[in-house]
Amino acid sequence: MPLSAQEIADRLHAVKNNVAESAVAAGRNPDDVTIVAISKYHAAPQVAAAAASGHRDFGENYVQEALAKQDAVAELTNAALNWHFTGRLQANKAKYLPGRFSLIHSLDSLKPAQSLQKRIASTGASPMEVLLQVNPAGEAQKGGVSPEELPAFVEAVSEMPGLIVKGLMFMAPFEAEPGEKQRLFARVRELRDALEVRLRSALPVLSMGMSSDFRQAVAEGATLVRIGTAIFGPRPPQT
Ligand SMILES: *Cc1c(COP(=O)(O)O)cnc(C)c1O
Repeated sequence: MPLSAQEIADRLHAVKNNVAESAVAAGRNPDDVTIVAISKYHAAPQVAAAAASGHRDFGENYVQEALAKQDAVAELTNAALNWHFTGRLQANKAKYLPGRFSLIHSLDSLKPAQSLQKRIASTGASPMEVLLQVNPAGEAQKGGVSPEELPAFVEAVSEMPGLIVKGLMFMAPFEAEPGEKQRLFARVRELRDALEVRLRSALPVLSMGMSSDFRQAVAEGATLVRIGTAIFGPRPPQT
């Protein structure tokens, strides 16, 4: 059963308070942390409910699902929403993203970056802001560039005029202990700091932290937290 609009508004309010508390506990300004509500597998009315309670940033993982949902949500609300792409990006789907998303969190290989660049150059679309997904533990995991590959990757993407690198994204291994997750979040921040020196430009965005680990991520400097379950409830099973 999907949650009611009131339940979503209440959960969103609670998540905002928890994120703000975590920020204050870390000596940070709560305004420096934006919650991206991850709406994958949840239907347009749930997104519209969150929008009606004032939320503006939403994240989706699957291109087709996202485009259809954006159109459906636009029928339900006039609010101008910021859509984030947070899923694995395939080179053959990248062409659908320009103009439809304000930030791509999950760039971790050259092929989709090149497809994006090509599409943006050929259509005259505005440059897109992107984050590079990293895998600081360097172990076999869902995705992300290893610390060793990161300098060459960031330099290659920075040379593409259609892409603007804003920072890093990280997904902690599901099974890691909170303390281990926090060490990994700190490592991502250090990787970002080192890249800023190398590139001589600011990389202000750190996308890290989900429903179960946003406290540790905010403590280590996350500026975007990607929260699904704590806002929308458990994701419905996919058929
Ligand atoms: C699904 C997803 C989330 C949200 O996870 P929850 O545990 O439901 O908060 C965050 N980030 C990414 C990349 C995801 O795929």
